[in-house]
Amino acid sequence: VEAKDLDKCQHAMDSLKNSMAWDERVYGREYDLDIFMVVAVDDFNMGAMENKGLNIFNTSCVLAKAETTTDAAFQRVEGVVAHEYFHNWSGNRVTCRDWFQLSLKEGFTVFRDAQFSADMGSPTVKRVEDVSLLRSAQFPEDGGPLAHAVQPASFIEISNFYTLTIYEKGAELVRMIHTLLGPETFRRGSDLYFDRHDGQAVTIDDFLAAMADASGRNLDQFKLWYHQAGTPQLTVSESYDESAQEYTLSLSQYCRPTPETEIKQAYLIPVSVSLFGDAGALPLKLKGQRPNPEVGDNTSMVLEFDHKDQSYCFENIAEKPVASVLRGFSAPVKVEFKRDQGELLRLMSQESDGFARWDACQQVLIELIGQLQQQRGDKAAMAQLIEPVQEAFAGLLADDSLDPAMVALMLTLPSLNYLLELAEEADVLAIYAARETLRQALAEALYTPLMAIYKAYDHSLAYQPSADQIAKRSLKNTALSYLMLAADIGANDERRAEVLALCQQQYQAANNMTDQQAALLALVHSDFCQEQAQWALSDFYQRWQHEALVVNLWFSIQASRPARDALAKVEQLAEHPAFDRGNPNKVRALLGVFCNQNTYGFHASADGAAYRYLAEQVLSLDGDNPQLAARLLTPLTRWAKFAGPQRQGMRNALEGIAASATLSKDVYELVNKSLG
Ligand code: ASP
Ligand code: ZN
Repeated sequence: VEAKDLDKCQHAMDSLKNSMAWDERVYGREYDLDIFMVVAVDDFNMGAMENKGLNIFNTSCVLAKAETTTDAAFQRVEGVVAHEYFHNWSGNRVTCRDWFQLSLKEGFTVFRDAQFSADMGSPTVKRVEDVSLLRSAQFPEDGGPLAHAVQPASFIEISNFYTLTIYEKGAELVRMIHTLLGPETFRRGSDLYFDRHDGQAVTIDDFLAAMADASGRNLDQFKLWYHQAGTPQLTVSESYDESAQEYTLSLSQYCRPTPETEIKQAYLIPVSVSLFGDAGALPLKLKGQRPNPEVGDNTSMVLEFDHKDQSYCFENIAEKPVASVLRGFSAPVKVEFKRDQGELLRLMSQESDGFARWDACQQVLIELIGQLQQQRGDKAAMAQLIEPVQEAFAGLLADDSLDPAMVALMLTLPSLNYLLELAEEADVLAIYAARETLRQALAEALYTPLMAIYKAYDHSLAYQPSADQIAKRSLKNTALSYLMLAADIGANDERRAEVLALCQQQYQAANNMTDQQAALLALVHSDFCQEQAQWALSDFYQRWQHEALVVNLWFSIQASRPARDALAKVEQLAEHPAFDRGNPNKVRALLGVFCNQNTYGFHASADGAAYRYLAEQVLSLDGDNPQLAARLLTPLTRWAKFAGPQRQGMRNALEGIAASATLSKDVYELVNKSLG
């Protein structure tokens, strides 16, 4: 690294040592050279690249220090260092025969780094984060005009295929194999794969053949996951026969036509289930099947659903149970299961699988946001809808046996991007308004317990990027953002003054970037204290102007403000002397965050001005950095999800780009495929 950054390398070094030890222990893989080198550069399109013996890293994925780096960035460094290190086996010693096999190394390596991060921190939190990313970014890719198979059939520019589908969905496919085979057999399969192909350039089929040979299973049907694009939909219905004491789950699957396959064959979908009675999880036995004495815990089961429709009948079920389906997110599918809110609230408190608990909470929230959207304007009806959820959340906050990180995740409403993905021809502003209504109601109702959580937090702790501390900080900072929201919408001056003082105090006194950034973000996102926010923003810039990665945060915080005039702010920041169009991290921090993450600000700008602005930026970047330009235009490719003005505005912007005579292959491919 550059000499000035030498004090920011310890975390990456620790992560590297942990990765090396972990790969020896979990996969039996040792490192083969005497020296392992990493170089950090500030101008880089990707996170990092696994060149044998000398990994090249974006500084954002290697430098970390409490004062300048957030918890999320610490975790990203750990994950990317591990990812590149693991590529030494899954990528370098055994590599890809051709570009169509990209997911052979990327899907498998993302799976490996996810297992590693889960082992280093909280497995449930890691799973929730990964599934959230999949749902709010990979599902839209798979549901839009750029849908492609994990093993794509064709491409114009391979750089365009460093996608969430190749990486994250690819990792989910490996994860399903792990679920179907079990950890020991999976390990035999990976050993066989590495031994058989060490020093070779191979294919996804070779990987699957090793898994099949080691397990004695035929994985032919499973291969469809690699060749059929689109997110399958799993529809679930249930029936209970009290006299026979039988409970039946009926599953059916559907996947929309995508460019490479019109009619889909049935996928093999591993569906992990449990049934809950009043006193907890019930023992499961399928009708007509003998109980398997080798299975210790018989309260959960993985159904191997491999037809278009199939029913599963469970015997000796003495009460109508509450079913938990797709526990741990056992397959990358959308689930449609109509059920009472009461049942979901029960799962939220009764499930032993943390992921399933969070997911039940998400389903409650998604359903509720949809209902609020319909009730727009009717305050009394809305309050009535929200009440049971407020109560459930109050219960969560009162239960100190829960992992604070999980409570924070449950309090975080489903992203606007995911809500859009679930809708068809959506009115983005109406969904945003409904989501805000709910956030505000929760902020009001939970003010007292959230304040108690905030005040109970010990701000004098010496910073550690440990799972335990990260969990506590995330809950405390989630509380702060709700408290600031309550202050923003409420007319109570005393309350405003109290919350504002706490937030400013946190900003000033923070001994780590996670807390400082959270306080600054809360100030910037609240209307009532814009004067204080402006002061803090200029103070922050003065303090950190020599730390490029912190300046990126400064851009992102401002670009993420969900306001109607967000575009004007972004245009102004693009003229700031610290902004540098030649630096991909800067472009992502300002333009990428605005267009991808500030979904409201991006779509609320008058007459689609933000779409035209993005199109201009794409064209101006395309000459120098086509990879970055192509990536930046992703939000426009989602036009089909939107209704009316947004839909047309996005299409117009794409057509404007398409009209240019000098497009790179990268941008040409994405724009033309998106317009269809
Ligand atoms: N192979 C790299 C990675 O995923 C990305 C790149 O090609 O730069 O780690
Ligand atoms: Zn990789």
